[in-house]
Amino acid sequence: MQTTMQDRPLTLSHFLYRAERYTPSKLIVSGTATGVEERSYGEWALRTRQLASVLDFLGVPRDARVATFAWNSARHLELYFAAPCSGRVLHTLNIRLFPEQLTYIVNHAEDDVIFVDRSLLGLLGPLLPTFTTVRHIVVMEDGGDAPDPDGVNLLDYEELIASAHPAEFQELQETRAASMCYTSGTTGNPKGVVYSHRSTYLHTLAVLQADSIGVRESDTVMPVVPMFHANAWGLAHAGVATGANLVLPGPRMTPSALADLIVEQRVTVPAGVPTIWMGVLPELAGRDTSALRAIPCGGSAVPKALSEAYREQLGLPILQAWGMTETSPIASVAVTRSWLQDLPEDQLADLRASQGPAVLGVELRIVDQESGEELAWDGVTRGELQAAGPWIASGYYNDDRSAESFTHDGWLRTGDVAVITTDGYVRIVDRTKDVVKSGGEWISSVELENEIMAHPAVAEAAVIGLPHKKWGERPFAAVVVRPDASVTKEEILEFLEGRVASWWLPDDIVFIDEVPKTSVGKFSKKDLRDRFADHVLPTE
Ligand code: AMP
Repeated sequence: MQTTMQDRPLTLSHFLYRAERYTPSKLIVSGTATGVEERSYGEWALRTRQLASVLDFLGVPRDARVATFAWNSARHLELYFAAPCSGRVLHTLNIRLFPEQLTYIVNHAEDDVIFVDRSLLGLLGPLLPTFTTVRHIVVMEDGGDAPDPDGVNLLDYEELIASAHPAEFQELQETRAASMCYTSGTTGNPKGVVYSHRSTYLHTLAVLQADSIGVRESDTVMPVVPMFHANAWGLAHAGVATGANLVLPGPRMTPSALADLIVEQRVTVPAGVPTIWMGVLPELAGRDTSALRAIPCGGSAVPKALSEAYREQLGLPILQAWGMTETSPIASVAVTRSWLQDLPEDQLADLRASQGPAVLGVELRIVDQESGEELAWDGVTRGELQAAGPWIASGYYNDDRSAESFTHDGWLRTGDVAVITTDGYVRIVDRTKDVVKSGGEWISSVELENEIMAHPAVAEAAVIGLPHKKWGERPFAAVVVRPDASVTKEEILEFLEGRVASWWLPDDIVFIDEVPKTSVGKFSKKDLRDRFADHVLPTE
């Protein structure tokens, strides 16, 4: 039987239409190197349409990749919509990738044009000769003062916009590519994920679900998570779709500048990785944070101690979310289910320290890596977490490494090890590559790190497995002590007793100044392994 419903494509121009028709006076505030700039959604929509004409003027073909090398800003948001709504593909470049990785992804994606913030020109300039397909570089003045690189013809964003007519957008197929993003993988070259209009549209609705982040028109959303990392978790799209005010911090990324923006702009939903929130909390002490409604956090496990510190200081715990570049990224959010709300506070804190139930639209399962069999949701059985849904990748762009990351029945193999409780809460135990395999048993580096970070004198802790003759591998912890605090190895071991099984206790603990981080702010276990490759455990 044929449906009698309209077959209208789910494309991003609908969000832009909403912003210009329903919420033109709502605001986008952008941090610049020198202050803040305000723009209404009405102005933003007009400029976005003008920018689409600029792409025509520059001869950027349909389907061509329009790259950005930029902080979070209203201009970046113009590109977020002008490229896909005019049939091009937005390619957000991670400004913190190694130079050779940037060269690889620009050439692999065959970027046609790059839009770069003036303050980031110093990073990009030296790489320009290595790009083989880029025809234009357009500079966005953000208050930065990097000089023009020699011998390159730079175009000026504002000049181009000023002379452009607003474009009308043609109807596009919803399955058309809208944007792409490369994974920040620590091994091998980054892999490209290509989002469609449809996947981005549906993912945005997932961010709007009341049982996820629940973004709504009355919010003021501040994605601290970069717009070059996994779509800023869908929050930039959610802002446009709902008309929520957006605060885009630009280069103003220090903890004190972020705290100022939260307080001064009366932000309701700021979102970022755990290291951001570790830095910001002390800066919020004694200030008016009454507007805050939810603090989404993900990208790596949120230590329970961090979430509890927010609850104690601000009365608002962190809202943990889990996802990957391959999952758009929002796949699960640790909301508290109604039947669990009366649990004792400590158990509620445990729920919040989990990655939560899958959001509506995503299916998650845990699977035995060897037999491929699905495992029980009993809260103890561990397996590889796999994901399926309309905003989950089914392969990588032009990459023969796709096969190993997807199952025969089309699910994404996340590379995360997890348990799922009877209530459907996912608890990430580790990355498959990071679990410490001691005598055939697994020790979760993430859980051990969390327990060490619960010590009041510890700022950060990262655990890796080091070779051991008897056990194969044993846990080793690198710990960063809080400023003005002190703690010894013995005190940490004593603190851990009773909190973890005795055979989980690290065989050695060393103190370091800082845990090495990846380009998106996660603990870089690879760098840590390299650094301590020759370290001999005292138990050897
Ligand atoms: P990326 O593609 O860079 O966003 O990295 C995705 C990976 O980050 C996931 O596979 C997880 O290993 C990790 N991750 C993201 N969110 C969380 C979270 N809430 N808890 C633990 N790990 C997370």
